Amino acid sequence: MKLIYSILLVFMLIGCKGNSQATKKTEKKYTVVKTDNEWKESLPQMAYYVLRKSGTEIAFSGPLNNNKKEGVYVCAGCQSPLYKSEFKYDSGSGWPAFDRGIEKNLEYDIDYKIGYPRSELSCNNCGGHLGHMFSDGPKNTTGNRHCINSAALNFIQTDEK
Ligand code: FE
Repeated sequence: MKLIYSILLVFMLIGCKGNSQATKKTEKKYTVVKTDNEWKESLPQMAYYVLRKSGTEIAFSGPLNNNKKEGVYVCAGCQSPLYKSEFKYDSGSGWPAFDRGIEKNLEYDIDYKIGYPRSELSCNNCGGHLGHMFSDGPKNTTGNRHCINSAALNFIQTDEK
């Protein structure tokens, strides 16, 4: 069992490293580009704080935390599809949690804001900060937890329940 975890860890480390190197923020050109003022004017206050200032909303405060409807979660900044409802699960953390994302539309980077490295998740289309990825997700699927701010997402419902 230990060996399996070690192999998984190596893969995760390689994966994170590869992704962060391929998408260095300083070199990256996003499809959607706006000035800070344009973002400020076009986004609700909390969405601006999260997406553009890498802020974190207060736990259990976001309207999508308990959302269980079927649909697609898109970036609140540029409407790029980021998560499907079938990836969502209840982590109990107070923020919407997904075991995976629509990978090509996500950007992975490392941030050291709280003293140790965390895998930061951003929108690959506009660069907006979404949240962080942790390795305490559901073991029966990916083992990953994408911990995403509700304010960074808009929800598009696809069922009528
Ligand atoms: Fe975006």
